Amino acid sequence: MTAISDAPAEIRRTSAKEFDCVVVGAGFAGMYMLHKLREFGFSAIVVEAGTGVGGTWYWNRYPGARCDVESLDYQYSFSDELQREWNWSERYATQPEILRYANFVADKFDLRRDMQFETRVTSSVWDDARARWTVGTDRGDSHSAKFLIAGTGCLSASRLPDYEGIDDFKGNWYHTGQWPHEGVDFTGRRVAVIGTGSSGIQSIPLIAEQASQLFVFQRTPNFSLPANNAALTPERVSDHKSNFQAIKAQARQTAGGVIANPNMTSALEVDPAERESEFETRWGQGGFQVIQAYADLLVTNQANETIAEFVRNKIRQTVKDPKIAEALAPRDHPLGTKRICIDTNYYDTYNRDNVALINIRENPIERIIPTGVRTKEGDFEVDAIVFATGFDAMTGALLSMGIEGQAGVKLKDKWAAGPRTFLGLQAAGFPNLFTITGPGSPSVLSNMIISIEQHVEWIADCLAYLREHGLDTIEANLDAEDAWVDHVNELADKTLYPQANSWYLGANVPGKPRVFMPYVGGVGAYADRCREIAADGYEGFTLGTSAKAGAPA
Ligand code: NAP
Repeated sequence: MTAISDAPAEIRRTSAKEFDCVVVGAGFAGMYMLHKLREFGFSAIVVEAGTGVGGTWYWNRYPGARCDVESLDYQYSFSDELQREWNWSERYATQPEILRYANFVADKFDLRRDMQFETRVTSSVWDDARARWTVGTDRGDSHSAKFLIAGTGCLSASRLPDYEGIDDFKGNWYHTGQWPHEGVDFTGRRVAVIGTGSSGIQSIPLIAEQASQLFVFQRTPNFSLPANNAALTPERVSDHKSNFQAIKAQARQTAGGVIANPNMTSALEVDPAERESEFETRWGQGGFQVIQAYADLLVTNQANETIAEFVRNKIRQTVKDPKIAEALAPRDHPLGTKRICIDTNYYDTYNRDNVALINIRENPIERIIPTGVRTKEGDFEVDAIVFATGFDAMTGALLSMGIEGQAGVKLKDKWAAGPRTFLGLQAAGFPNLFTITGPGSPSVLSNMIISIEQHVEWIADCLAYLREHGLDTIEANLDAEDAWVDHVNELADKTLYPQANSWYLGANVPGKPRVFMPYVGGVGAYADRCREIAADGYEGFTLGTSAKAGAPA
C-alpha cells in the first residue's frame, strides 16, 4: 500500500508558466482531471486555495461532517487497483476518512507535483489572438494555458449572513464550511448554531454533547432522514470490491448515480396502510431509500404530502415537547425539493435539557452583539457562534475567478440573470473554458463522484479529439446553449423542485437570480446525450484552429 500523507503539502512555485491546461481546484474533480490529462499527454497545473487536496472535504471539517452518499458508492471508479487497495470503514464515511482517501489518491498517483497550493485564482482572461487563457493568482504570478478547466466545486463559496456586529463578537465564531483544522472544543461553552441545513443538522447533535448550552437558530425546518450508519462488515466490503466495475457501470445509468431501489407505482394508487408500511420499511433501511418508495413523490404535491406527513409524524414521535416538534416539522416546501438531510440523532437532540430551539421567523435575529445574538425578543449570551449558513452554490466559486471571455465579456455579466451553459460544460463566448459539474449538468442532484468522472473523461476525450484533428479551440454555440437552458428549465418545471426556496435556485443568496441550476434529467440520460454530441463531431460546439496559437495543444 502507498503511504498516506495527510500533512499539508509544501507550496510549490513552478518555473514553467505555459501549460496545455490550468485546472482550478484540487478536490475530486481537479485531482482526477490532472490524472487524466497526464495520461493523455497534456501538461497541466492545478491551482488550489487550500494547503492540501480534498476540496469540500478539506474545508468542511465541522463536527459530524459525513458524506450523505454511502462510502462504497462515493469513490472513484477509474482505477480498479485503487478501489482494491482502499477500505472504507463505515456505511457513511466521516470527513476525516474521505480526506484520508483524497490524500491516498494524491499519493498513489503522485498528483501534488503538479499542484500549486495556498494559491487563489483572481483573474482568468481569454486572449483571442493567442487563443490562450491567462490565469492570475493572489500570489502575483500567472499561468498561460490553452484550456482552463474549473474544478471549483458546487458548494465551495461559503456564505455568512449579513448580520451586523459579527466583527464585534467577543467570543469565537466559525463557519461550518471553513472549519479550523485543529478542531474546536465546545466543552462547557454556551454555543449558538445559526442554520439548520445539512451542515447544521450533522453538527448540532455533537456540539450539544459538548456544550453547556446550545441555542439553535432555525429559519426554515428541513426534512431529515436517519442515516442508520454502521460499520461495514468485511464481507460487504469484499463483495462490493469483487463486483465493483459492474456496480459502477449500473450506477452510471441511473438518475442519481447510485443504484437505488425505485418503486414505479404511484403513492396515490396504494391504500394508506400499505403506503405507511412501505415508508416504514425504507425508513428503517436509512438514507435516501424512503424517497424512492413511489414514482411520483417528487412529481405531485399530493403524493409528496404522503411522505412529508410520514416524516413529520416521525419528528412528533421523537421530540417529546409537542411545540418543539411542530416547530421542527417542515411545511413550507415539498420533501426533497431542498436537499434532504441525512442525520444521526438530530431530532432526539431536542430532548436534551441543554438544547433550545429559536424560531427566527417568529423571533428574528436583529444583530450579533459582543456577547452573543440579539433577537427581537431578547439577547442570547454565548461564548461561540457557529454559522451553518451554507454556500453561494454552483456559481459562487466560478464567478470569483474573474473570468473574462471573448471581447472582454465577463462571465458574471453574462450570468447576471442566472447561469447559461451548454451541457453545464461550456458557456458561449468563453472558448476553451470547461466547468466540471457546472450549472446545467446533473452535478448536485447526483453522486458527485460519478458526475465528476463523466465530465473529466468527456473533457479529456474532447481535448484528445482536437489534438488528433489539428484543432485547438472549442466553444459552445449560442443557439445550442439557448436550447439547452430551455431544456433544463422545462424539465425542472415538470417537478416540484422550483417550489422551494433552495440553494438549487440561488434563493439563499439575497439578490441572486432565481434560476433552477442543476439538470434534473438524470446522469444516465445526460451522459448519453454528451456521448452522442461528441460522436457527432461535437455538435453544438464550434471547433477551430488559431493561426497565431502555434502548435495544437
Ligand atoms: P444550506 O443547506 O444552505 O443550509 C443553510 C442554513 O442556514 C439553512 O437552514 C438556512 O435557512 C440558514 N440560513 C442561511 N442564511 C441565514 C440567515 N441569514 N439567517 C438565518 N439562517 C440562515 O447549507 P449547508 O447546511 O451547509 O448545506 C449545503 C449543501 O451542502 C447541502 O444541501 C448538501 O448538498 C451539502 N452538504 C452535504 C453534506 C453531506 O453530504 N452530508 C453535509 C453538509 C452539506 P433557510 O433554509 O431559511 O435558507
